[in-house]
Order: sequence, then C-alpha cells, then structure tokens
Amino acid sequence: MPESYINKDLRFNSYGTYLRRRFGYRVSKVNVDGGFTCPNRDGTRGDGGCVYCDNSSFSPNSTLARIPIEIQMLEGMAYHRRRLGSEKFIIYFQKYTNTYGPVSKLRDLYHRALSHPDVLGISVGTRPDSLSDECLELLTELATRHYVCVELGLQSMDDAILNRINRGHTLAEYLQAVHRLSGRGIELCTHLIYGFPGETRRGFLRTADLLATLPINSVKLHQLHAVKGTRLAEMYRQGEFVPVSHQEYLATVCDFLEILPPQIAVQRLYGSAPLAIRVAPNWDFKNNQMWYTVVNELKRRGTWQGCRLAGSSSRVGNL
Ligand code: SF4
Repeated sequence: MPESYINKDLRFNSYGTYLRRRFGYRVSKVNVDGGFTCPNRDGTRGDGGCVYCDNSSFSPNSTLARIPIEIQMLEGMAYHRRRLGSEKFIIYFQKYTNTYGPVSKLRDLYHRALSHPDVLGISVGTRPDSLSDECLELLTELATRHYVCVELGLQSMDDAILNRINRGHTLAEYLQAVHRLSGRGIELCTHLIYGFPGETRRGFLRTADLLATLPINSVKLHQLHAVKGTRLAEMYRQGEFVPVSHQEYLATVCDFLEILPPQIAVQRLYGSAPLAIRVAPNWDFKNNQMWYTVVNELKRRGTWQGCRLAGSSSRVGNL
C-alpha cells in the first residue's frame, strides 16, 4: 500500500527515511563546490540571474573551487559521522549549475567523488537547460554502478512567474529535461519555491498534480526569501515583494503534502539564510523547528502525505 513509504512519526516520506530503506543504514549528503558557474548569469541564458540569487556569491573568483573536492568531502563526511553517526554518503554538487561545463571536467569531478569507498553516489544540482547529450550519457553510465540523482530547479510551473523572476527557462524546458533524463536509472529531484509575487496557493498546489504525472523521485521545497544584495531584496524594499506569512506557508506545505504522491520523497520543506544576510521573511525558526511545525500541523489535521489522493486510505489509524 502506498502508505508504506511514509515515516509514521513524520507523516510524510522523508528523504532520510527513503535512503535508510534503500541502503539499510544512515546516509548523509555532503555538499561540495565543484567550481561551476551559471548560464543564467554569464550571458548564455541571461546575465542578471534569478531575482533571489545571491549576487555576492558570484564574484568571479568564487566560481573557482579553491579547495579540492577530496578535502571538502573528507571534512563533510567527518562532520556527518560525528553529528549523525552516518556511515555512507552521497556527494552533492550543489553550488551553481553542476552540469554546466565540458564533459571532461564533469567526468573528472564525478569520478573523483565516487572513488571514495564510503560514497554511494552523487547528487547533481542543475538547470533544465544545461544537460548536454554527452552529460546525459556520462550520468547514465555512472548510474549503472552508483546512485545518481539529478536535482532540477523548476521553482515554479507558471511561465509568467518564471519570466518575472528571470529564471531564463520555461516549464516546457523542464518537462523536456525530465523526459530526456527518465528511463536511464537516474533519480530525479525537483526544486520548488513558494511565495513568488503574484503566486496563489491554488496555483502553487497544481505543482503537486504535475509532479504526480512525472517520473520524479523526490522534491525540495522552500519559501521565497530575500537576502542582501539581490534584486528580490530591492523588490522587498520597494513593496513589490511581500513575503508569505509563516502560517500561510505552513498551511500551503501541508496542503501540498496531502496531494503529493507518497512515493515522492521529501528532501526539504523550508529554507533559511544566515542572519547576517537575511532580509525577509524573518520567521526565526531553525531548520528542525520548521520541520516539526509541519509534522505537528499534519498531526493536528490528522492527515499525511498523499492522503487526499484518490485510492488513499482515509484512516489515520493506518499510519
Ligand atoms: S539558476 Fe541558480 S545559480 Fe543560476 S542565477 Fe538562478 S539561482 Fe543563481
């Protein structure tokens, strides 16, 4: 039954639960910086970047990873071993667009990440417009021997919003990327944001319906938040961006989970920015506190991930 995917305590299918179920032990993601840049900033697709993108992180030098990924990995793995007791790891190429470069560079970085005996696989964050045929072949080949996940930024399924936030790609490009990636043994994660100017809760919730029709394995969601130096921060000052309230976000996340198929694992439900650069909103929750506001709200509602989908059991007792 579909509810077998769900962590009974959390009431949704958390990615941690999924990894433990799949691999049999605690697995942590370790972030590394592979020294990439982004086509939405270097003029290839756009030159302003997404309105919420942290400009300060785009000084030319910051796109050259100065620390070899082996060192970054060792430090990250030691941290997760110490803090969580993790035994195995997935190396997460997170910063900027991690398929945007010559395939020789991608092959070198991915192979180096996978060569550590405690590394089970890689997760690669990217944009729908940055997947060359050669890159797909490389990822497909790696996926025959390792866990490989591609994390695609969609953020919104509304082209008008994508245009307004200067994403530099369309929904159609995302759908095409999903189509090209599927059937290759590669896991797919989709990144979403809620709270764009002009966005409605009803409009956002359609995204869960869309994901239900696609071969998506996991999702990451966070609220739109502005940090210093971004165009979004300027829009906030001009009154053009009004952040959603915590209550509104919480209600939307729970509505979203209730119509999200239970087999889609949830990697993130909330984003945070360091206090020093945070502009808005200022909800003042730590990540795990935010996580548990969602859990508690689902408990209060007596609902769980996918419970409002046709064919789902309607009794909370089944949890
Ligand atoms: S795609 Fe990512 S890295 Fe590129 S401009 Fe947008 S937020 Fe920044």
